[in-house]
Amino acid sequence: MGAKCFCGCGRRISLRHLGRRSYNNRGHAVVKALAWFRGELDETGTTPDPGLQQWLDEGDMVVDLLASAAHGELQRPNVIAMAQWEKDGRKARREAERRQWGAGEPFADLIEPDPALAAVAARRFRDVDYKKADS
Ligand SMILES: [Zn+2]
Repeated sequence: MGAKCFCGCGRRISLRHLGRRSYNNRGHAVVKALAWFRGELDETGTTPDPGLQQWLDEGDMVVDLLASAAHGELQRPNVIAMAQWEKDGRKARREAERRQWGAGEPFADLIEPDPALAAVAARRFRDVDYKKADS
């Protein structure tokens, strides 16, 4: 027995693997946050501005990395970058709810990563082991 993996692969994360279970819990929260934004955008017919779009794209990477971590394939995802991503998401959600997707501050101003970082964003969340394998 164990918790079901958040990624939908059908695997069970053993209760003995505390680290993997915490990545799995985090994965559930990330998937939920992304689903909330995508659902809202869809319902309101809103096109995300570049800042929000980047945040969403990065979220997909965070999902991939957390899934690898929950599976035990990735030992040390960049939890600091992930925490920043989560913080940006909370800010963006507050703003979205405040203005109800109407005019307001661009999300690009609320969300930490600079659009110029898009090209290197993929690396931002990566584990040191991945970096070694990549270069
Ligand atoms: Zn999985």
